[in-house]
Amino acid sequence: MTMGSIARIIRNLLAGKESTFTFTRMGEIPVMERADVHLYVHVPFCKGHCPYCPYYKLPFDQDQVKRYANLLIREIDILADLYGRLRVPSVYFGGGTPALLGDDLGRVTGRLADRFDVDAIAMELRPENCDPEGVARLADGGVTQVSMGVQSFQPDLLQNIGRGVTVPVLEEGLARLAGAGFKGVNADMMFVLPGQTMGQLKADMERIVLAGVDQVTCYPLFTFPYTAAGRHLERKRLQMPSLGERHDQYRFLWDFFTARGYAPTSVWSFLRPGAPRFSSVTRDSYIGLGAGAATYLPGHFWFNPFDVGLYRNRLDRGRLAGNMHMNVGPRLSDLYWLYWRLYETRVPTDGLRARFPDRTHPMRLMMGAITALGMGRREDGHIRLNRKGAFWVHLAQNHFMLDCIDTFWTRSLDNPAAAEIRI
Ligand code: SF4
Repeated sequence: MTMGSIARIIRNLLAGKESTFTFTRMGEIPVMERADVHLYVHVPFCKGHCPYCPYYKLPFDQDQVKRYANLLIREIDILADLYGRLRVPSVYFGGGTPALLGDDLGRVTGRLADRFDVDAIAMELRPENCDPEGVARLADGGVTQVSMGVQSFQPDLLQNIGRGVTVPVLEEGLARLAGAGFKGVNADMMFVLPGQTMGQLKADMERIVLAGVDQVTCYPLFTFPYTAAGRHLERKRLQMPSLGERHDQYRFLWDFFTARGYAPTSVWSFLRPGAPRFSSVTRDSYIGLGAGAATYLPGHFWFNPFDVGLYRNRLDRGRLAGNMHMNVGPRLSDLYWLYWRLYETRVPTDGLRARFPDRTHPMRLMMGAITALGMGRREDGHIRLNRKGAFWVHLAQNHFMLDCIDTFWTRSLDNPAAAEIRI
């Protein structure tokens, strides 16, 4: 079975055999029952260009950042006027490079605090954002959790993936974040990098544990030829590790962290005991602000335009910027729930039964197979994945991401004004 067909099977399970995921131009913004909702804020500016990156980003320009911050503030006001004073358990700033908001960060977080009841603010960072002034600005802006993209401490591997950062900058940034009093610090690392040896991976993990971070997230660099990363590797004539090497590396990571008391909180994240979890994706409902941001609310999934000009035009009309919309029926909503519980490596059995009451439902059978095949066990009201189960789930999710999500991003970037996108 090819990897592409794994992705297709997952997609067929989610959308149904005959159907595709179809996004069409958004009409009215749906009315939402007053509820807790998470927020995602997209800041698309970057000073560099990472060749493997599929996200919506623009070259940094100070004036444009200031104008963009004004747009975010306007969108916050429109949201608050529409839905009232929401309780917001978390706000996640992603990008791009959200720290490039600079002094405007405080204006945006200040408006969020004025209009909503916000519990926590998390932000992803590049090492270059972690100088003393940058870290102080985060604390002043109310940021409580941070995540730094380290990827590796090996200069040759960093070079292979086009990261120009030096190891001393990485280490100084990590030390500063660990000592700055944030409620949680996550470090993003990478495995299955082209040319990466097991010795290098081990050295990287030992170093990141010594850095004193609360959570380590180990993303695989995995590509299809049509992705940005795939094209970059082809240009540089770099070979990806084989599936067997990937399996060995994954097993190493799982054993390395669990032996040190870290708990798996997703198929690729490991949390130090007692530390708060850092996550950007496993929210049951969230509203995205900013160009290219996604929103998931009961029954609805939509994206803002992947273009700042179109984003501004929407806001100029006094409405939220939702642009491409997909209905999420009960079947898809239940599957979405299960997808993220598997991603978290634990599926509550009560929730599973409530969403899939028929014992012969394919998802119930799949969960039964997971335990029967020794990929997980029942424990404390959950089905918990073990190392073997987590490996196959991470592989399937990685392919699903590339097949569906990256494809959507690529098409949206190619034609932000498209009337319909099918994937
Ligand atoms: S990986 Fe991050 S910093 Fe690099 S281009 Fe993408 S969004 Fe920008």
